[in-house]
Amino acid sequence: MIKKGLLIVVSGPSGAGKGTICKNLLELNPDIKISISATTRAPRKGEVEGVNYYFISNQDFEEMLQQDALLEYAKVYDNYYGTPKKYVLDNLEKGNDVLLEIDIVGALQVKDKFKDGVFVFILPPSLEELKNRIVGRGTESNVDIEKRYGCAIEEIEQVIKYDYAVINDDVDRATKDVEAIIKAEKCKVTRVHEDIKSIF
Ligand code: 5GP
Repeated sequence: MIKKGLLIVVSGPSGAGKGTICKNLLELNPDIKISISATTRAPRKGEVEGVNYYFISNQDFEEMLQQDALLEYAKVYDNYYGTPKKYVLDNLEKGNDVLLEIDIVGALQVKDKFKDGVFVFILPPSLEELKNRIVGRGTESNVDIEKRYGCAIEEIEQVIKYDYAVINDDVDRATKDVEAIIKAEKCKVTRVHEDIKSIF
């Protein structure tokens, strides 16, 4: 019997650095599969269809919803984002670990469905640093910066619903923390009970 893969869900406010941490994590652990989300947001400069997101219309998004093709979805800063279900379920079934980098509303939907997923919240070292990072990225308009910063404070309060919190004051260390969380999760007695049985 193939052991199911681990579902790893990473969230955090805009500017916490979750994107960089996930990117590093995937570089260091090429066996982890990243779920590519569908979104109605317009691509940013440099973003590639099927790599960063599947950029789709509102109508296509609604169709995916009607077909029950999304594991979760949320409206984030006026756009829809969702996780295509099939890719995630197929890979978990094959024994591959799957990483979702999604917002809190979506993560909580996943938590209801996958009790044995691991839910990690990335925090900035301070609110001041968070704002600097959002501004420094230069990808958002001033209105969007304020919107994202305003949401961040409310979002951080949701950390209590996650299994783990990682403070991103140093991106390499924070990536190592997430790796350590994954390793520890894989050693949980509830996950290795078949291996334990085979000892006897
Ligand atoms: P961005 O527009 O900066 O790429 O992403 C905005 C927010 O949407 C981020 O917090 C990101 O984690 C979240 N997000 C990206 N994909 C998904 C998804 O499939 N589902 C949900 N619920 N949130 C997503």
